Amino acid sequence: MVYSIPNCGFSRSYVISGTDGLMVVDVGSVGAANDIEKFISGHPGMAMEDVRFVTATHYHIDHIGGMGAFLKRCPPSTKILYHPLVREYFRGTRKLSLIRNWFTGFTPALFWCSLYVRALGHLRFENLSGIPLPGLRNRVQRPCPKNRIGYFDLNVSSPLDPKDKRKRSLQTCSAGFDSWEVIETPGHTEDSLCLYNPATREMICGDLLINMVKNGRGRLNHFCWSLEITYGTYRELVDTLCPLVIYPGHGDAIKHPQNALSAVEVFNLS
Ligand SMILES: [Zn+2]
Repeated sequence: MVYSIPNCGFSRSYVISGTDGLMVVDVGSVGAANDIEKFISGHPGMAMEDVRFVTATHYHIDHIGGMGAFLKRCPPSTKILYHPLVREYFRGTRKLSLIRNWFTGFTPALFWCSLYVRALGHLRFENLSGIPLPGLRNRVQRPCPKNRIGYFDLNVSSPLDPKDKRKRSLQTCSAGFDSWEVIETPGHTEDSLCLYNPATREMICGDLLINMVKNGRGRLNHFCWSLEITYGTYRELVDTLCPLVIYPGHGDAIKHPQNALSAVEVFNLS
């Protein structure tokens, strides 16, 4: 079962409760780390000792800016899990993908997201990692010692190139947590991933889809690295998954009695 942490800063944080503990998804700031800890400690049947994994849907500052701060409050066995491309960011062999449509995509998003900033800590990031701008995108720092970090077993040895029309299908693997699966969902960034539970039909989709307008049905995010790849990823997901509820990186859950993916607003590629 997925719990959404309400109003915890620019992005949404989620806590997944499983038979064998908790997985935390997206800790965007030091304030978000505080809010998630408060939520877990105050929730009947949950405790910080139960946190097994902390993960991120993609390596952007508003989704990773408090991961190290949060990990410090977890037991020593808790691991941070990333998309395998993040390993290359840490090694300095790959830069974060640049993002398009700053004016039409970022400006309205910033406005809506700022409504969820309630505390000064929501504007505090542990470092300047995860900013997809020239000059800043190679300033990447590990949030904790190397031995606390793992990478999902996604085979992304042939990364997608927006100019390259060659099609390969999206890679998936087990999240190692209940029946949750990890699906690479490139488009918003190269390193984007979704979490999907085929048993409960819940999906955490990061910034592939956003849903910031109240009671909106959600939309494909055109503030992204590649519109073509975002669109291709979405099409493949619609054909292969059937979620009843989608938890986006920004905004409220998207629900639909048959397939919540089919209900979202899609941009026109032409
Ligand atoms: Zn975001």
